[in-house]
Amino acid sequence: ATAFGINKALDQLGLSEINEGTSTGLNHFGSGEIISSYSPVDGALIGKVKTTSPADYEKVMETATSSFKEWRLMPAPQRGEIVRQFGEKLRELKEPLGKLVSYEMGKSYQEGLGEVQEMIDICDFAVGLSRQLHGLTMHSERPGHRMYEQYHPLGIVGIISAFNFPVAVWAWNTALAWVCGDVCVWKPSEKTPLCGVACQNIIAQVIKENNLPEGISCLINGDYKVGELMTNDSRVPLVSATGSIRMGKIVAQAVAARLGKSLLELGGNNAIIVTPDADIKMTVIGAVFGAVGTAGQRCTSTRRLIIHDSIYDKVKDAVVAAYKQLRIGNPLDENNHVGPLIDTDAVSMYKKALEKVVAEGGKIIVEGGVLAGEGYESGCYVKPAIAEAQNDFEIVQHETFAPVLYLLKYSGDVENAIAIQNGVVQGLSSAIMTNNLREAERFLSAWGSDCGIANVNIGTSGAEIGGAFGGEKETGGGRESGSDAWKVYMRRQTNTINYTTELPLAQGIKFDL
Ligand code: NAD
Repeated sequence: ATAFGINKALDQLGLSEINEGTSTGLNHFGSGEIISSYSPVDGALIGKVKTTSPADYEKVMETATSSFKEWRLMPAPQRGEIVRQFGEKLRELKEPLGKLVSYEMGKSYQEGLGEVQEMIDICDFAVGLSRQLHGLTMHSERPGHRMYEQYHPLGIVGIISAFNFPVAVWAWNTALAWVCGDVCVWKPSEKTPLCGVACQNIIAQVIKENNLPEGISCLINGDYKVGELMTNDSRVPLVSATGSIRMGKIVAQAVAARLGKSLLELGGNNAIIVTPDADIKMTVIGAVFGAVGTAGQRCTSTRRLIIHDSIYDKVKDAVVAAYKQLRIGNPLDENNHVGPLIDTDAVSMYKKALEKVVAEGGKIIVEGGVLAGEGYESGCYVKPAIAEAQNDFEIVQHETFAPVLYLLKYSGDVENAIAIQNGVVQGLSSAIMTNNLREAERFLSAWGSDCGIANVNIGTSGAEIGGAFGGEKETGGGRESGSDAWKVYMRRQTNTINYTTELPLAQGIKFDL
């Protein structure tokens, strides 16, 4: 990995001490147990990070609470200026940060750079937004009254993120939350703690250069126990949590028990419908990238291909042929298409899924397997696999976070395909490949796809920051990023102002004294 400039990247991100393995406390508040971060790329120890103890957490909360009191007084466009400066720093550090993402998480270097680009894009979006936190005005039913609504900062936003987007998800939340006047406390995944420290170093520098209170951005490290400190804490009015459905159900209940708000971005089970009118070449590119990109570890990864029986064999053969071209190996080497899974636990889950689909009656048509030998020492590299299956198999109903693609067949009308596509508990991303306008519009209609994302002639994977991102059903219902997703980070207030000398009551109620 040294050959790919990792040590230099760690240096540029202020992680060189961690890289030498001598320092364990670069995050400001850590005095708990130590997490060692091993790269799935080559199995090497990248660094160690101290976790946040309950006492450290109290200090973080005090800092965040006092910082909020100052930050909320700063006009939103000035907060936007801070986010602009943060975006500039990200531009400068795009390469080292992209490299760290690739090395610590295992996605390709191109995808690592793409993640940092998403951070830059959401900063730009947030800067513009900082002058557009609009409320409505309404006409009062009472004479001489004015009525309007405005949005105020919420307070401390707690962010819990997953390993697979170790930096972008944080930025989607923070860039908006900051312009909205909130302060953020972030608990990154315990599988990618150094990405968290690197991001915190970058924003801490911007905060310092502007003489602002450091608690505008706080980092806490550790596993679910550290996350629970926030979900149970009524000082945190909003918890934004990204991860598995299992985690989301626990977090949602903990936050709801104290009547807090949660924004949930959970698992998907995304499908592409391939109709008789599909462009096969485009379908193959969309499906293969969707299924094997990030080694199948995207929430929007393509898990199911629902193919019309009239073109089933043609599409199957084309996808199988494309799988033969895939090069699996070090994701920092741009010649490779597929990198490693995050860790050996993920490899076990992948193996179990392949056993299960066979046990349920499925047929493997592209063999999987774990790679060994030179370049694969970490034990995390697996072969992308394809199985023919049925939608009601338990394993197909479940999100396996690995490169396993299920081929499903439909016949007759596109409604039959839509029923299969919607016939799962998750509702994140969906796509239809068709040149038939009627089919496309039916897929997008009220009786079409039930997902938060529905695409035509694009795969399921990858999204632009301009649109609100999220999914329905057990995916959790949250929306982040573009459109009006900012509203969740603010509290709404309705104001009625009387500029007369009378006090008329609403609904014409008389109350004479
Ligand atoms: P995970 O659920 O294991 O962990 C996610 C985060 O939640 C981690 O930071 C973890 O420490 C924390 N956590 C776990 N239990 C918790 C609890 N009880 N209280 C508080 N915090 C807790 O998920 P993962 O393996 O890191 O990520 C993969 C999953 O994330 C997949 O299901 C994927 O689809 C999903 N995901 C969804 C989106 C989306 O936007 N919808 C984006 C990325 C990933």
